[in-house]
Amino acid sequence: LVATVSCKEKKEALYSSNNSNDVIEKKVSELLSKMTLEEKIGQMNQYNGFWDVTGPTPSTGDASKKYEHLKKGYVGSMLNVTGVDEVRAVQRIAVEETRLGIPLIIGFDVIHGYETLSPIPLAEAASWDLEAIKRSSEVAAKEAAAAGINWTFAPMVDISRDARWGRVMEGAGEDTYLGSKIAIARVKGFQGDDLASPETIAACAKHWAGYGFAESGRDYNTVDVGTSTLNNIIFPPFKAATDAGVRTFMNSFNELNGIPATGNAFLQRDILKGKWGFTGFVVSDWGSINEMIAHGHAKNKKHAAELASNAGSDMDMESYAYVDELANLVKEGRVQEALIDDAVKRILRVKFELGLFDDPYKYCNKETEKQVIGSQEIQDAVLDMAKKSIVLLKNENKLLPLKKEGQKIALIGALAADKTSPLGSWRLATKDSTAISVLEGMQDYTGNILTYAKGADLTLGQTVFPLELIINTTDKSEFPEAIQTAKTADVVVMVLGEHGFHSGEARSRTDLGLPGVQQELLEAIYKVNKNIVLVLNNGRPLTIPWADAHIPAIVEAWQLGTKSGNAIAQVLYGDYNPSGKLPMTFPRSVGQIPIYYNYKNTGRPVIPAPNEVFWSHYTDESNTPLYPFGHGLSYTTFSYNNLLVEKISSEAVKVSVKVKNTGSVTGKEVVQLYIRDLFGSITRPVKELKGFEMVSLEPNQEVTVSFNLTKQELGFFNNEGEFILEPGDFKVFVGGSSAANLEADFKI
Ligand code: BGC
Repeated sequence: LVATVSCKEKKEALYSSNNSNDVIEKKVSELLSKMTLEEKIGQMNQYNGFWDVTGPTPSTGDASKKYEHLKKGYVGSMLNVTGVDEVRAVQRIAVEETRLGIPLIIGFDVIHGYETLSPIPLAEAASWDLEAIKRSSEVAAKEAAAAGINWTFAPMVDISRDARWGRVMEGAGEDTYLGSKIAIARVKGFQGDDLASPETIAACAKHWAGYGFAESGRDYNTVDVGTSTLNNIIFPPFKAATDAGVRTFMNSFNELNGIPATGNAFLQRDILKGKWGFTGFVVSDWGSINEMIAHGHAKNKKHAAELASNAGSDMDMESYAYVDELANLVKEGRVQEALIDDAVKRILRVKFELGLFDDPYKYCNKETEKQVIGSQEIQDAVLDMAKKSIVLLKNENKLLPLKKEGQKIALIGALAADKTSPLGSWRLATKDSTAISVLEGMQDYTGNILTYAKGADLTLGQTVFPLELIINTTDKSEFPEAIQTAKTADVVVMVLGEHGFHSGEARSRTDLGLPGVQQELLEAIYKVNKNIVLVLNNGRPLTIPWADAHIPAIVEAWQLGTKSGNAIAQVLYGDYNPSGKLPMTFPRSVGQIPIYYNYKNTGRPVIPAPNEVFWSHYTDESNTPLYPFGHGLSYTTFSYNNLLVEKISSEAVKVSVKVKNTGSVTGKEVVQLYIRDLFGSITRPVKELKGFEMVSLEPNQEVTVSFNLTKQELGFFNNEGEFILEPGDFKVFVGGSSAANLEADFKI
């Protein structure tokens, strides 16, 4: 209490509690004018947590250095400090023991929830439900805030066309338009309308930029992309996040066209802070300032600090480069103090906006922590999101939904009873085995006889260093029991796919089939019972051509978080009619990658044309994907008719289409609109998503769905970075996936 009072006095002497923009700017400048160069640089320094309530963690060699820096006011932010007690402990030092008492901003990777987990972001993207995604980020923020966190390193808005890259699980998939809408929903969810509320946290658009285009899908690899791809594919979700008010950006590990993103002035100064007028701050990625040495761009740590700060990286995450080197660089005139001032202002601005100066302990309420973490409200929201994220890939003979009574159901597969893998990657505050498994979810339905057999382990553990999964490629000793169980069942539900750590950071793969002996198990079971429902748990598109050719029903259930098993069981039993649509193309084979729906035409056809020998194809594989972007079925069916295009101005058209539920149950459909600009000064993709709307229809119900296409949807960025609309011939396609073929022509 004594500490709180003295901090309050200090604060009141310095500031009033009016937080309008002008007032904040004034407060920022006033505070800046009181700071020494070292204190300013301290604000630009971020350390990983080393402190718990008992003192510096002895296992971290640098703990005492960090602790000393914290006490001197040389730390502006910490990450991975969690829980009200820990956060209060470090915040107290910053506020009570340093000369100016500037509060820390506490960051954490709240990627798909804090402790209670919603589906991995790629799965959420499959919902195409922007309200639900916003709500999911909102509850994640609420739970994280209750644990003392002020800032999440999310959303990741990197577009990726490469399922080998393990971090596709963290993004919104391959499409810029969908990715931009989701970026907005997530930023608004995390930050809310009022950043000063104790239930909202600052968001971070990452990784700026190009990280999802790592060569050959290998994490951290070189990125070399053309101007048009940068402007039209990679940048727009970041721009959307900026316009939605995201308060921070994180740069990326990769180099972009020869210059590491961390030292890239074009990205950080010219585009983000210049052209886009971003007023928040940029944090480096973990140690990425120092990594510029390994990239062969900076000669040493001092040079790395110089390059990064001059290029506009405002905060150094764990490189020790700024705290150790920046003051000398300023004294030597290699970094202008004005640039330091600009970075510090950005950081202080966000701290003021969060209300941390009004009450540095606003996120540190033990009672709130107890009430909010794991609350019913959050459990309900993550379950809702999990159901909406499921994609029905295939459903022959109406095998799904399962009948609720009188059936013998065999549940098989290493992931069927797994309570950890469905949590997915990025779950730093969540304990193992806290997800509801499919087995548990299905046990809620008691009208059938349910038997379970694992069939085979997916992994045989993990190596400690480097942390790699040891996949079971040999042990089939449990096959016979599973085969026996399957033989007598009416329906076999097999839960196969990836371990929770098969995808995520540094989890790139070259083989995207079912890992280990799972494919063999699937084929062995199929020999004795063809009535198989395959439930996939995975963090990325998989190559499953055999399953697609043989298995009658396939459900893409990703890694759905805490309530995974409940969501899957409700979909399997038809208590929830699936409506998800793929946010990423499923390849037939890895050799097709990168494969994406909005490709460009070449001078040669992609389907064999008469007398054309040299067409654009593979000799051993089709050009088409296994499942296209936007694909997803329902327990009902929909028809599309009466596609009309009406000109509403010189630069805009209105498109309308009739959508009807032609099946026998109520269902939701994501009506998707794609355009093609037939000729362009920069060649245009064969299709581009430019609108979608979710409709819920009862059997036989029909609605007219309409979209306005304006310059924003019909135009594109030229190679000078200008957004232009070129009048001419267009096509519009409408339907339930990117393979939609109801089309009409129009001119602008
Ligand atoms: C990742 C970031 C993450 C950071 C902090 C890095 O390895 O690339 O996305 O936010 O670690 O955990």
